[in-house]
Order: sequence, then structure tokens, then C-alpha cells
Amino acid sequence: MSETFLPELPQELWRAGELELAHGVKQFLQVMRVASAAMGRFLAEIESRGSKDLYGYGSTAAWFADVAGLSRGEAQSVVKRAIALNPTRGLDGSEVPAVAPTTGAVAAEGLIGEHRIDQILDILKRLPADTSAEDREHAEKVLANLARDAGPRQVAKAEEDILGWLDPDGNEPKDPEPKQPRREVTLERRRDGFWKLTGLLDDELGARTAAALEAYAKPRPVDEFGQADLRMKCERQGDAWAELLDLAVACPDQPGTSGYRTLVHVTIGLEELKTGIGKACLDFVGTMTARDARMAACDCLMLPVVMNAAGEPLDVGRLRRFVTPGQRRALNIRDRGCAFPGCHRKPKNCHAHHIHHWADGGPTDLRNLVLLCGFHHRLIHHGDWQVRMAADGLPEFIPPQYLDPLRRIRRNTLHRAPA
Ligand SMILES: [Zn+2]
Ligand SMILES: [Zn+2]
Repeated sequence: MSETFLPELPQELWRAGELELAHGVKQFLQVMRVASAAMGRFLAEIESRGSKDLYGYGSTAAWFADVAGLSRGEAQSVVKRAIALNPTRGLDGSEVPAVAPTTGAVAAEGLIGEHRIDQILDILKRLPADTSAEDREHAEKVLANLARDAGPRQVAKAEEDILGWLDPDGNEPKDPEPKQPRREVTLERRRDGFWKLTGLLDDELGARTAAALEAYAKPRPVDEFGQADLRMKCERQGDAWAELLDLAVACPDQPGTSGYRTLVHVTIGLEELKTGIGKACLDFVGTMTARDARMAACDCLMLPVVMNAAGEPLDVGRLRRFVTPGQRRALNIRDRGCAFPGCHRKPKNCHAHHIHHWADGGPTDLRNLVLLCGFHHRLIHHGDWQVRMAADGLPEFIPPQYLDPLRRIRRNTLHRAPA
């Protein structure tokens, strides 16, 4: 060994001070460890080329045992360590990466010795079988960097932390990427024409969904006729879901709609559309009542395809049925929310209802439009309430006789301060 490699020994060791002694031990310890790591690189290279080809021995450990005067077992542990810390090559010349490259780098600096190296290798061996390569690499880095300054106890403690972090349940198989969002939604059409919506949401999306549904599923307050909201919770949530869909569809950035508010087509005969009697075809998957189709077509919640009796598409109202963004803004400013008496709903939750349906020749202009929330839109289309435009340009509503025998005209005063 050359002079430059080994630190200098003091001439008279018995005269050395305590600091000098300690320094000497640390220096030579590091030299031994650096040398040990360097020797490991030679052993790994011999292993890569094949001890049989090179020296005629069946294994690198057998050869090293003879060279170093070690037992097979003693030689085996040195060679195993060398192969784990250094990349080797397979028989076909392909590179086999080191099991513990960071540990190898720390060892090459002489900062850890064989005991800590073997401890780290043992811990890596005990990681759960389904640990991903990324997690394994991360664990090895943590251990190797810790071992620079820490003793066996701290490294052992780090193993507990790593196992806890890799496998929090202790026995459940671990997700390779622990925090990936997990969300599944399935929608299938049943034979009876209803759709079944099922899903599995992770905690974050579940909480957001619950909050969004809750916000829209509140029971309606008792109205001025003393009618309470009798919907069950699941029904209120169903209606809330419809409102959330309307909101999403009304968003101008909605993908793939090429400017239309919706991708769903409803095919209906002109007669059926005008009378609301009969059936309509919903995107070729099922039928809906012509009455429902008439309402859905009213504010183009679905895209109506109107057919004549011969089954040819007609151009009915194509140009006049779409409420332009400008008209919608003006309508929002005029009505300030659902115009139905006593309703609190905001404009964003409203449809633009044609008082005189476009299928019957009604124009799409402000004099013929009124903001109605989903619930009241349905009520106007299906119930006996009537809406009309008053002389002052604001909508007014006439209740059915069973609610008010005198059928007194009503307006929604909630959105504006009394004049
Ligand atoms: Zn309508
Ligand atoms: Zn309303």
C-alpha cells in the first residue's frame, strides 16, 4: 500500500493525546471501510465476468475464501455484500442494478461498515413483497442516509417507521401509490327505463359530493298555500343531482358540446311536441313522455330533433329556440332568480322557460321568456299554474283554482325590494 493511501502513524503513540488517539481510530476506520467498499467493487466485477471463466472456481465466494483464508460462510457474506452494493452484469451482459445503491455510495465514502450495511440489507429483504420499486428505493435512501450518523438502534427504529408507512394496516395488501384518488361511478339503464347510478368515492370526493348534494337538497320552505316539501331525502337528493347537472351543462366551458347546452337528443314528432301527448325517443335508448320532452325541449335541456309524420326531421324553431347568452343575461337581470311566487332559487339554478312554446311558434325573446327553477319549470309544464307576461314586462302567475278559488295573480317579490 502506498504512503498516500494510509494516514501517517505518529512516531511515539504512547505520547499521543486523547484527541489524537480518537482521530487515529476514526481515520483508520474510514480507511478500512473505504478499502472494504473498493474491494467489493473488484468482487462484483469478478462475479460479473464469472469466477469459473476467470479462475476456474465454481463461485466467487469459493475463490475469495481461498484467497483470503476464510471459511466459505465468511467469504460468502463479503461477496453477497459486494454484489448488493454494486451493479453487476448478467450472463448476457445486461446490467443488473445494485440492490442498495445509496448504501453502496455511503459505504464507498467510508461512512458505514459491514454491520450497518448488513442491517440495511436485512431490512430491505423484510419489506413486504408487494412494495413498489419506488418505495423500496425510497426506503433504502432513508436507511442509508440515516446510517451515516446513527447506530443500530436508530436504524432498527427506522425499519418500524418504514413498515408503518408502507403498510399502515399491518396486514391489508398495500396500495402501491397510497394517495391516488379512487372513484368509480357506474350508470346502467334498467329494463323498466330507470337508470341505476352506483359508485364508490374516496373520502375527499365523497365529502365534496355530500356537501354539494346537501346544498341543493334542502327541503323547500312551506309555501304561501301551506304546502310543505314532502319529498323524501333520497328524492330531494335526486332533484339536487339534476340541478347540479344543469349547472355543469350550463357552464360555457363544458367539453364536447360544440356550443349546445347538451349532448342528449330527444327525437319527437311535431304533433307530440305540440300537444304533449304521446311519446318521445330519448337518444335512441328509451322513451320519455311527450310532456317531459316538451319541457326538456323548452330551454333545450336536451337537443330536440323534431320529425314530421313521415319520420323526416323538421326545421321547427331551430333558429329561434336557443336563448342567446345576451338574452340569458338580460333575463337574469330582469327576473333575478326563479320568478315563481315565493321561490328563492338563483338565476344559475334556473331554466329559461318559453311562456309560449317555440314549437307552437313562440319566439325566443324576453317578452316570451321567464326564469324558472327546475322544480317550478316542471310545475308550470305539468301542473295547473299559468304564467303570463304582464303589461309592465314582468312575469306574473295565476294559481290553480284548487289552491285559490279566486285565482288571484301573484308575483315573486323575494328577489327585489318592494317598490
Ligand atoms: Zn318551459
Ligand atoms: Zn322556483
